[in-house]
Amino acid sequence: MKLIGLIGGMSWNSTLEYYRVINELVAERLGNLHSARLVLFSLDFDEVERAQRENRWDDAATILVEAGNALKRAGADFLVLCTNTMHKVADAVAEGTGLPLIHIVDVTGNAIKKRGLQKVGLLGTRFTMEETFYRERLKSRFGIEVLIPSEAGRIGIHRIIYDELCLGKVKATSKRSCLQIVNKLIGQGAEGIILGCTELPLLIQPGDVDVPLFDTTRLHAQATVNLALAKD
Ligand code: GLU
Repeated sequence: MKLIGLIGGMSWNSTLEYYRVINELVAERLGNLHSARLVLFSLDFDEVERAQRENRWDDAATILVEAGNALKRAGADFLVLCTNTMHKVADAVAEGTGLPLIHIVDVTGNAIKKRGLQKVGLLGTRFTMEETFYRERLKSRFGIEVLIPSEAGRIGIHRIIYDELCLGKVKATSKRSCLQIVNKLIGQGAEGIILGCTELPLLIQPGDVDVPLFDTTRLHAQATVNLALAKD
């Protein structure tokens, strides 16, 4: 089994899910007392979030590269960034560490293609929904068209992520407002919905929505286990 290098803490609430799902999947695949071989570098999210908000993406990338290099020294065979948003600097992390990285957008794009869908709605932070690094990669690599919520919807989801979910608060009112936004996207033709923030599965589950949900935390954790257990 390869040694997994997780860069987490963005926020720790979703890193917990990665840790749990990765271990559950390894136990499912290998049985008995098997669990994942992994090293986790859990960052202080306040530093990363401040760099995002102040548009200092190079500083944010440096924090991640330093964490990635520490994991490399610990023997990690590959890296996993436990966040969608920070994939904005995924190339810098791969280059700065020289380690392979499982890109969350590629994992998500593959899952959407497998379901045969062409047009999906995307929920996430404003960076993920509004900037090109996520949507363009889905379009250019997978031919997937991405719909995003209205500006008011985007502001609302962003606030729920940073002010509630990243602090471990799961509120019924926020769930209702997210589901309204989801239903609008479905009305506009979305055939599926990407939970493109690793905390969103804490708020929205498959039974809540009438179309396929793409839970990026779970998909990313599954891809991590597949690579860790791959024979090469
Ligand atoms: N975990 C979230 C995501 O998947 C947001 C936190 C962050 O900004 O990294 O995008």
